[in-house]
Amino acid sequence: MTETPSSAPASSRHDVIIVGGGPNGLAMALALAGPQAQPRARVLVVDSRDPRGFAAAGVDTRGSALTRATQNVFKALGVWPALAPHCAEMSHIVVTDGKGSLDTRPALLSFLSEGQGKAAACITENRWIASALMGVIDTVPEIEIRGGATITAISRSPGFAEVHFADGASARAPLLIGADGRNSFVRNDLGIEVDGHDDQQVALTFSMAHELPHGNRAEEHFSATGVFALLPLPGNRASIVWGTSPAEAQRLMALDDRAFEDALNEKVGSHLGRITLEDRRQAYPLKRHVARAITGPRTALIGDAAHIIHPLAGLGLNLGFKDVAALADCVSEAMLRGEDHGGPAVMERYAQWRRFDIVSTIVAMEGMNALFVNDWPLLALLRQTGLRLVDKMPAVKKALMEEAAGMTGTLPKLMRGM
Ligand SMILES: Cc1cc2nc3c(=O)[nH]c(=O)nc-3n(C[C@H](O)[C@H](O)[C@H](O)COP(=O)(O)OP(=O)(O)OC[C@H]3O[C@@H](n4cnc5c(N)ncnc54)[C@H](O)[C@@H]3O)c2cc1C
Repeated sequence: MTETPSSAPASSRHDVIIVGGGPNGLAMALALAGPQAQPRARVLVVDSRDPRGFAAAGVDTRGSALTRATQNVFKALGVWPALAPHCAEMSHIVVTDGKGSLDTRPALLSFLSEGQGKAAACITENRWIASALMGVIDTVPEIEIRGGATITAISRSPGFAEVHFADGASARAPLLIGADGRNSFVRNDLGIEVDGHDDQQVALTFSMAHELPHGNRAEEHFSATGVFALLPLPGNRASIVWGTSPAEAQRLMALDDRAFEDALNEKVGSHLGRITLEDRRQAYPLKRHVARAITGPRTALIGDAAHIIHPLAGLGLNLGFKDVAALADCVSEAMLRGEDHGGPAVMERYAQWRRFDIVSTIVAMEGMNALFVNDWPLLALLRQTGLRLVDKMPAVKKALMEEAAGMTGTLPKLMRGM
């Protein structure tokens, strides 16, 4: 990896410029320029912050469920050896709903991977994803990271997109990738609108330690105010997503650590023994959106810049990695053939590949959310009888686990571990 000196050159040329060095942007850089890439592109990653800082404790306290398909991407990118020790297999998933203590709620649905093949996913903390990706990027001279950069404008001329920075420098490439998250500058610059929804919910995220082993069991507890997800981490630890109303989230965030720990122990009950808070709490407003287009002239959008889904099934990041793997296939094949890799034909190929999967995932998540986060008696009855029925159908559960593992549909090479 090359680091840009403080006196940046006035103009630089690259094969690809990626705006955003979050998990999707960094994975995209490696997919195009890492040791497995054929050919290896010269990639510039630009971020308004320093992507190296994302590996520090307390910066991003979210955990992520990594599906088998996403694990394959990490294996192909050479990132897995550094990440695997920080992942816990999710071999058992229990879903409950309704009122009452989490300890005593009956399971509506439960998935056990034993006898149904490998675990569909493993859980890790986001900081380890950033750290593992940066570890490999550091060994790749074709990737340049420009952290702390402010983009003032993007222009396009035949054959190039050009990014202009506040210090007067600029960078150009035949392809610009917007991986700059929910308020994407790149997407807004293209005038692409999003269709969105504000859930009027806030998710608190943090890690916790507990006395008793979790047995690699994930718990998803639904209620009318949101989902409380407990996701196993290595050791007697878990990553938490505590979805609740904005007012309750504000109250919980204002508590000191001791009082918050008491509230957490009361919420979870006693099945994991005494619980202690491990790091800073963060609060994320749950707003979802999908961009009306994921490509524009010389530009492709990936990750949260293109879509944000409800975190109830922990699939958001995995959907982004599907973008990464599909775009890498389209761009690398074009470069190999000597085709214009940022031209309209390649952009259309990428958009067509991803459109159906993005829309169908969003529809599934919206359906689940409507089914669970709703107190309407008929819906409550439907989910209880419907899910109890599913719970007794091993073939349906196996199909659902394959879907959850991300191993369905036309998989790009990286998702097959190639
Ligand atoms: C509560 C919660 C729980 C979640 N749990 C899961 C889970 O279990 N599993 C899962 O798969 N997903 C989960 N997700 C979703 C997942 O965290 C996101 O999908 C993922 O972080 C998106 O990555 P990204 O790289 O697209 O965007 P981001 O992580 O937002 O990165 C965007 C980057 O762009 C940079 N940037 C922004 N604007 C500019 C600019 N103008 N110029 C330069 N740089 C810029 C930012 O600094 C940042 O580094 C969860 C989300 C939430 C909110």
